[in-house]
Amino acid sequence: MTHTLSSIRINEQRFKTNFEALSRIGATDAGGAHRPALSAADLGARAWFRERVEAAGLEYACDAEGNQSALLRGDCEGAPPFLLGSHLDTVPDGGRFDGALGVLAALEVLQTIKESGYSPSVNLEAINFTDEEGTHVGLLGSRALTGKLTSLDLGGPNQGVEVFESGLSRLGLTRDGILGSSRDPKMIAGYLELHIEQGSTLAECGEEIGIVTAIVGILRLRLRFIGRADHAGTTPVQRRRDAGRVACTFAAHTWETVLRDFTDCVINVGNMRFEPGIFNVVPAAVTLDLELRASSNPRLTALHDALVHLARQEAKEAEVELEITLAEDIAPATMDLTVQQALIECAQAAGQKYRSMPSGAGHDAQSFADICPTGMIFIPSVAGVSHSPKEFSHWQDCVNGANLLLQTALKLTHVPT
Ligand SMILES: [Zn+2]
Repeated sequence: MTHTLSSIRINEQRFKTNFEALSRIGATDAGGAHRPALSAADLGARAWFRERVEAAGLEYACDAEGNQSALLRGDCEGAPPFLLGSHLDTVPDGGRFDGALGVLAALEVLQTIKESGYSPSVNLEAINFTDEEGTHVGLLGSRALTGKLTSLDLGGPNQGVEVFESGLSRLGLTRDGILGSSRDPKMIAGYLELHIEQGSTLAECGEEIGIVTAIVGILRLRLRFIGRADHAGTTPVQRRRDAGRVACTFAAHTWETVLRDFTDCVINVGNMRFEPGIFNVVPAAVTLDLELRASSNPRLTALHDALVHLARQEAKEAEVELEITLAEDIAPATMDLTVQQALIECAQAAGQKYRSMPSGAGHDAQSFADICPTGMIFIPSVAGVSHSPKEFSHWQDCVNGANLLLQTALKLTHVPT
């Protein structure tokens, strides 16, 4: 890259003005943001984004999935665009930084490059994906764009079909449109996303940048222990086939196993439903919801196998039956090594303290990981708080992240002449 290119920096003041203006849309009294996908506030944010894109003199587009784009055309006619993106929607009563930071940084990168007079060798596209947070269907926009969304995924929206349908029509979208307009993977040159960490690692270690190695894979299992209902007063404890006792013991041993053998993974026992679920009846059945996360397939499989083995063993010892169903299977998404290397070089050149780390949370980037070179940048979240009005990142960290996004996008798309 030429010296001039490597010295380009974003316009901090404009970036901040935009951040503050967006934060006012759906602002909550507690200092957070409430912009669930397809809500009035989300529509407000989308209208605001469109207006900013057009004011910047960039081309605006919105696809049949509701993804909004700003396009900066480069030198090469018809070349696939390189995407920079994230999401403007939030969880209910969420924070101001999650998603919004990445979209605003992407827009700022395009504006900065446009003003620099440099004409990139590919088209650059800043994108706001529809419903990343899953108000209706998680990662809807990015999965639809990359051809990963099926009619099955649209079948059970989180707030029911009616709410989803009315949201879609507010935006002029249809199910058929969403399912029928994915892009040809060959027409995507790459994907980069800036996001807050949403954890405390960077802040605790005094580091400014996280370079994501992989987004964890997730397995969601439903374990149903089936014993026998008995009188809880007259049946001796040792003669019971107590589904509740096995489920509780299994849960405790699950955590022990992870703390001992899988310190690189996380699990969650999210729910246990007892049947019949009353004081005086020994539980006849317990359904336990178990989530497993790991950053590679071998680790996810090893964790799964260890816990399933444990469950079967404990059920057998207690003479309780066990049914296991797989409720969800999301593969780990590995970030591209060339992109990671470019991020490292740009962070080093800027003198930024960085670390390579996996992402425990899902992001739009995971939709792209298997179809184009994909990378992610994290900046510190104060105290690791996210999905909360208390979510906060220091502004200098936001600026550092946006400049790293800019420099890495330039590095990855620059063709020396
Ligand atoms: Zn997010």
